[in-house]
Amino acid sequence: MKTEPKNGGTVPLRTSKNPVVGVVVCQSCGGACSVHQSKGKRAALLYTICDNCGTDQRTGAPIQEYWRSTMQPTLEALAENAPAKPEVKPEKTEPEQPPEAAPTAAQTENTPAPEIKPEPEPKQTEKGKPITAIIFGLVFGGICGAAA
Ligand SMILES: [Zn+2]
Repeated sequence: MKTEPKNGGTVPLRTSKNPVVGVVVCQSCGGACSVHQSKGKRAALLYTICDNCGTDQRTGAPIQEYWRSTMQPTLEALAENAPAKPEVKPEKTEPEQPPEAAPTAAQTENTPAPEIKPEPEPKQTEKGKPITAIIFGLVFGGICGAAA
């Protein structure tokens, strides 16, 4: 990572038009990424640039707060003050559900089929029989005839 002197230490060297305002630990790779402050309409928003992960421009309150609260002025300060890896809990609050509930219910619903037609013979069967018989008869007959 290329760095440049700033704030009495060093910060990642960026070509971004917005200056580096701090550094944070990257939530994705655990490396150091630079924090930048947008200008104009988005001046209140921070974004980060990670050497490994690229630019992160999420505007949500949690990530903005994370950057704001953990941001350090220099890489040296980050190494001293920030934990090696941020403890980010994925918020898994979903209750464990029995996974086989849905298919069983579907089968039960489909099973009662009260109206079954008594003679479900499709036309194909009626047509197929004679054709098969004819073909079979021709082939069989031909073989027999040739053999004879
Ligand atoms: Zn990263």
